[in-house]
Amino acid sequence: MRILLVSPEVFPFAKTGGLADVTGALPKKIAKLGHEVKVILPFYKIVEQKKFEFKNLDLKIPEILLADKNLKIKVKSFSDKNSNVEVLFLDYRPFFYRKNLYLDPKTGQDYKDNDERFILFSKGVLEILKQMNWSPDIIHCNDWQSALIPAYLKTTHAGDPFFKGTATVFSVHNIAYQGIFPKDSFAKIGVAKNLFYPTSPFEFWGKLNFMKAGIVYADVINTVSQRYKEEIQKSSEFGYGLEGVLGSRSSDLYGILNGIDYFEWSPENDRYIPYRYSPEDLSGKEKNKIKLLEKSNLPKNQKDIPVLGIISRLADQKGFDLFEKVGEEILSLDLKIVLLGTGDQKYHIYFLNLEKKYPEKIKVNLTFSNPLAHLIEAGSDMFLMPSKYEPCGLNQLYSLKYATVPIVRETGGLADTIEDFNPKTLKGTGFVFKNYDPDELLYAIKRALEVYKNKKVWKKLMLSGMAKDFSWEQSARKYVELYKIALKKAITQ
Ligand code: ADP
Repeated sequence: MRILLVSPEVFPFAKTGGLADVTGALPKKIAKLGHEVKVILPFYKIVEQKKFEFKNLDLKIPEILLADKNLKIKVKSFSDKNSNVEVLFLDYRPFFYRKNLYLDPKTGQDYKDNDERFILFSKGVLEILKQMNWSPDIIHCNDWQSALIPAYLKTTHAGDPFFKGTATVFSVHNIAYQGIFPKDSFAKIGVAKNLFYPTSPFEFWGKLNFMKAGIVYADVINTVSQRYKEEIQKSSEFGYGLEGVLGSRSSDLYGILNGIDYFEWSPENDRYIPYRYSPEDLSGKEKNKIKLLEKSNLPKNQKDIPVLGIISRLADQKGFDLFEKVGEEILSLDLKIVLLGTGDQKYHIYFLNLEKKYPEKIKVNLTFSNPLAHLIEAGSDMFLMPSKYEPCGLNQLYSLKYATVPIVRETGGLADTIEDFNPKTLKGTGFVFKNYDPDELLYAIKRALEVYKNKKVWKKLMLSGMAKDFSWEQSARKYVELYKIALKKAITQ
């Protein structure tokens, strides 16, 4: 099959979260299964131009009509020697050559023209394909920023012979981010005016909703774990108002767990950590812990006290309101915390205050740093993810590989991947709590600290996690099956 994967972010070019890890790794695995794969994302300012060799493609792309403007886009290409995947970049500087991907650094809010930016991206992708004369079997769209593509193929491009054999797959990586805009934005999309009315594919409580359109128009839809797939159809608490729409497409909705790129994330060959280690020889882990304590200005002579790592967007989703309620009690326990994250200002302030009060117990890093993320995974004993909801979650999976025992809430992908430890049978890979309740969070941490005291049992727990295999191979095959289902659907329609 010819497959185009469309995403607003792709590792290692542009990343704000787990989506980039997924769209960086999955295409390579699919290409390995014998398919022709290309990926496309916008050309942002953060893309490191010195690190990668980009080629400007000489394409005669017609100007893209957006509202009353005609915009001239360009295309860059990068071919990775180690994989057969061509990475394409839609290059339109006024929209994408900015400091951040989605958030305006001046206001801390979404860029005001995010609607126009990603309408251009979606329209542009279809134009680029035509000018490259590369007609895909599958266009695999990811999250709201590319959700209009399935809509275009079923409306403005429905009769276009170039896309006659093309099916669409829409992946929901997080239903809480839907791309909702005032209804005036609808006219900019450029589909028939009569497609906006109460309950129409684009309409959501009087506003425009990109993700809704993706869900309605895609041939098949998936999300990134089985549990999250069930949760988002069940209630507005998880479905964020789209639970009904998802329910109406229930028979076309699938759940495929994300994989892990063990080339990037494995303590045996991690290029960011000072000491490598493996299940056969865990001694490097303790050395990494000392390094992490040193780097964090935490007393390193207390290396027998467990370190709890946190790497996260600092958002309500990730359970920090829960943490806040018992933060002082957590810090009164016999542990250290190293946190890496950026996000809501209220949590920046909260954690800085906590650090000020307990400088010997918690180190707060309010930055985005991939190398530090690797060191925290390698140097911590435990990893905390008390999420309110979690579509898949990647850090708990990295943690398993790094023998850093996850403490998680039983939701979404966390529920599907972490098994609660039973001290009697010694089965399980982490500590899981059920309800979104601060006392349950506190109790889960206390349980972990108790087990930590028994070095032999703790080692068994670490090794159980390391033995788990969440590599991409299996999930990539499932995506290929999903593509076949989508193609069949598109042909029979
Ligand atoms: P989400 O995509 O919801 O943010 P995931 O757990 O799926 O959560 O993926 C988060 C990814 O982003 C992981 O690879 C994690 O290491 C990374 N990450 C999050 N915050 C930071 C940060 N401040 N610095 C470096 N990496 C981060």
